[in-house]
Amino acid sequence: MTATGSLRSELLEATDDEIEDAIGYADAMVLRGLLYQLTGDESVAGIESGRDLRGYAVFPEITRAEDVDVLRRKAVAFLKSYRDSGAPSIDRGPSERLPKSVSLLAGETLEGDSLLTWIEELALDPWARSHEWEEKPDAAKLQGFSVTVIGAGLGGLTAAVMLKRAGIPYRVIEKNSGVGGTWHENRYPGARVDTPSRSYTNIFGANYPYPGQYCPWPENKKYFDWVADDFDVRGDIMFDTEVSSLTWDEVSATWQIAIDGPDGPDVLSSSAVITAVGFLSRPQVPAIEGQLEFQGESWHTARWPEDLDLNGKRVAVIGSGCSGYQLVPELARQAEHVVMFQRTPQWVWGIKGYTSPFPPQVNWLDRNFPYYTNFMRLRTMARLAAWPLMTDIDPEFEDPHAVSAFNKGMRDAAIAFMEQKIADPELRATMTPAHPPWSARPVMADVDYSIYDAIQRDDVTLVTDGVRKINRTGIEGGDGTQYDVDIIVYATGFHATNYLFPMSITGRSGRTVHDFWQEGGSRGYTFSMIPGFPNFWMLYGPNTNGGLGPSSFSELTMRYVEQCIERLMQDGKTSIDVREDAYWRFNQVVDERNSLKAWSDPRARNYYWTEHGRSTTMSPFPFNEIFRLLRHPKFDELILE
Ligand code: NAP
Repeated sequence: MTATGSLRSELLEATDDEIEDAIGYADAMVLRGLLYQLTGDESVAGIESGRDLRGYAVFPEITRAEDVDVLRRKAVAFLKSYRDSGAPSIDRGPSERLPKSVSLLAGETLEGDSLLTWIEELALDPWARSHEWEEKPDAAKLQGFSVTVIGAGLGGLTAAVMLKRAGIPYRVIEKNSGVGGTWHENRYPGARVDTPSRSYTNIFGANYPYPGQYCPWPENKKYFDWVADDFDVRGDIMFDTEVSSLTWDEVSATWQIAIDGPDGPDVLSSSAVITAVGFLSRPQVPAIEGQLEFQGESWHTARWPEDLDLNGKRVAVIGSGCSGYQLVPELARQAEHVVMFQRTPQWVWGIKGYTSPFPPQVNWLDRNFPYYTNFMRLRTMARLAAWPLMTDIDPEFEDPHAVSAFNKGMRDAAIAFMEQKIADPELRATMTPAHPPWSARPVMADVDYSIYDAIQRDDVTLVTDGVRKINRTGIEGGDGTQYDVDIIVYATGFHATNYLFPMSITGRSGRTVHDFWQEGGSRGYTFSMIPGFPNFWMLYGPNTNGGLGPSSFSELTMRYVEQCIERLMQDGKTSIDVREDAYWRFNQVVDERNSLKAWSDPRARNYYWTEHGRSTTMSPFPFNEIFRLLRHPKFDELILE
């Protein structure tokens, strides 16, 4: 782990050749921003960048090879001289320089909330989002307030670390036996992130040495174990304990929390509750005729058995979302035969090195080039600046397949990848989605081996005319063909739009969240609060998906929550709730804005959209608006009692 300020003994021993070799792997945009920050060299700032559409996103790049060479030469000179000076603790450069350095990294001049967001994401200050008390309450007052966090995945761990740092008493309840949430549960072959691992960290954990660009589940789980241990929150987690219901008690101004754990059922009491239960955590297995007759084994992708030997097994996979598309290529390598039942194809973009670990030089740079990790983290996040371009509907744009010129460009890139991979036009037609890119969750895949390679293997059969029924020996397809298999895997997704499912949550006047969300489905005020449910916040709740990664979203929400808690204590009140009119106003904006996004396209059918005619999962806001919405609570829209 790079500890800023530590002596870099590895660098001290590096030869000139080793330094030159490593810099050959450095990202040129990162070098431009970082060198400028560390040295103030204006000639670095003068190097131009352009924009490169790489399939699914836009990446600012240094486009001229000679400029890349200049940056590398300067970086080599910097690192050699730093080594020769004994590689001492090095200052991060003047704060006044940061706006320009970050803009140089991002490839555009950043101001206002965009600049503030990216400076925080740079994580030079790992505690930039931790709570700063205006006036810290005395110990007795703090001890009188307790928070229960539900879930110890990404959101729950973020909450735990931030509450601990603020000195607010808390406990975490986790249904699993370990931390990591999604990455504790999703252990199917091929499971890995599709957002860069470097941005899958917290700002307080930005220096975590991920060994690859898009890491597989065991590496993701390691990160969460590291957070739990390094930030010393594991001891505050009640594992193997599930919350079944939450009931607000007006008299004591507490939540009564019914749990079931290793010691049996119990009811706990807490001043506040923060749910961090995720929305892709409760498997959805469809009811299919004959399911119970099947004599083989079956399970959902999120319930993959340990130590499974697939040698000689015939496996059916139902479902072709991200999980199905990630699973089948790996399964094909292990099983005797795979039958994939695909109802809807998804867009796939090829990424070079998607499944490969980093060459050693990359992590060497992380350890030895001061602040390289920070700038590299921001580099992987800054792609989100193009999110509106990627997902906005352009009402002026007319095309049968796409929602904007840019969206069409992404579609063309996906089709070009498919054409590279699949020669048969009929198979290409089968694999071409009818919906525009980003109207459903697309899939990232390795350019060298992916679902497109897998479905052309002799030991893989692609079935596209549906599942008629399941019987003793396997699955009968839509056309009556029988597929005998030993195992059926349900890659059929999650109860994604049914937030907080299956907990029963009863707020003021006996009203339940379920009742409240009857009309239109799940919603939150500032993504986190529900009127009539005081001292209650959701992390990564309704309409949070997209625009900003889950770790950033959780940190920003936690900062918001802690400001609410401080006000509660400051004012000597016991409950904080949101006004119903403010809740509806916020959600009207969410719905209006969502109607202009790609996922409103009627051709898409998935959890991005619901039967209520609105999206409960997707956020229509770009990152800077999310930052602004969560930066300071609007106390005139909240009720303190
Ligand atoms: P999903 O996207 O909801 O896909 C479910 C699949 O099951 C769809 O293909 C669906 O078909 C099919 N299906 C559902 N019921 C069916 C039935 N009765 N008969 C036949 N097919 C049926 O679920 P997922 O693939 O698990 O992905 C969920 C989300 O998890 C992703 O969108 C993503 O956000 C996340 N994820 C991320 C990664 C990653 O790369 N980091 C990997 C996996 C998952 P229809 O589309 O026709 O309904």
